Amino acid sequence: MTKKESILVTGGAGYIGSHTVLELAQQGYNPIVVDNLSNSSLESIRRIEELTDATIPFYELDVVHPESLHPIFYEQPIEGVIHFAAFKAVGESVEKPLAYYQNNLEGLFSLLQVMDQHDVSQFVFSSSCTVYGDAEVVPIPETAPVSAVNPYGQTKLMSEIILRDVAQSRSGWSITNLRYFNPVGAHPSGRIGEDPSGIPNNLMPYITQVAVGTRPFLRVFGDTYPTHDGTGVRDYIHVVDLAKGHVAALEYQKAKPGVHTFNLGTGKGSSVLDVVKAFERATGKSIPYEIVEARPGDVAEAYADTSKASTILHWSAEFGLDEMCRDAWNWQSKNPHGYEDARSV
Ligand code: UDP
Repeated sequence: MTKKESILVTGGAGYIGSHTVLELAQQGYNPIVVDNLSNSSLESIRRIEELTDATIPFYELDVVHPESLHPIFYEQPIEGVIHFAAFKAVGESVEKPLAYYQNNLEGLFSLLQVMDQHDVSQFVFSSSCTVYGDAEVVPIPETAPVSAVNPYGQTKLMSEIILRDVAQSRSGWSITNLRYFNPVGAHPSGRIGEDPSGIPNNLMPYITQVAVGTRPFLRVFGDTYPTHDGTGVRDYIHVVDLAKGHVAALEYQKAKPGVHTFNLGTGKGSSVLDVVKAFERATGKSIPYEIVEARPGDVAEAYADTSKASTILHWSAEFGLDEMCRDAWNWQSKNPHGYEDARSV
């Protein structure tokens, strides 16, 4: 396979980042990873190298410092950047708004400045469906009104606005905002996956930790939403499909300067109890649960209108909920303590 471009992936050792690095390497790109390892493990990169036979250049540093990014742009023939490195916990962002604004926005400024100085103009941004707030219409199209209900979401929204202005400032920039719905699952090899530190906030890692025996039962946050079974409905998307969406965006935007925005989801809504049932079906494990109070700030339902990504990017999700559950469990059962297991052997 002929080598395609070198792509800098910030946060490339993290959950979505590592799956995207793997996908890039498999599609012949030369991914270069920058990560400060604050919420990720170098073991993920080692395993990607093992899966692909590629050598992945790795720089342990924080993107908020432009002076540490410059040398990488001299050393490597970088042609594009996919930017994942950011804080991502909604609850924590409410407690530490300044830290979120500072980290997520300074990281973006620093990268864009360095890219500008080195004449690198291809940028893919890790945005989120959280920018739709409590959407009035589902499925949610990219044209839906945006609003943020917490500092994390606000940093995504502000970043999109900054990127729009940057794209308009000179004609060379090609920038794509990818608004993810709910990424779950793991690479089918079971070698890389989601490794949350502490108690998981998100549904799927919580379920897999119940299945593996780390947590006794799932707390289902509310069952009186106006949905088919009263529990919250979301658009879960397999992380490998999501990773492929990034490569599709890179390829599309190359010939299309300006700013682009796409939803990455499956277009299908599943309730919390649908996920529990699918997980039990796919894995044969039983998931005990209790219904508890709704979590403040949660919306009743959110799922994507995926027609824009399918028509323009020629990308759509291939995996269904059963495969997402199967692969989430495959990862968790092979790595009960995430990458920590690799350190203890
Ligand atoms: N959820 C739940 N128990 C948990 C974690 C999440 O019932 O321990 C529910 C949550 O209320 C929402 C859905 O699962 O309806 C997805 O939550 P998650 O935090 O994974 O994603 P987000 O809320 O960001 O869409």
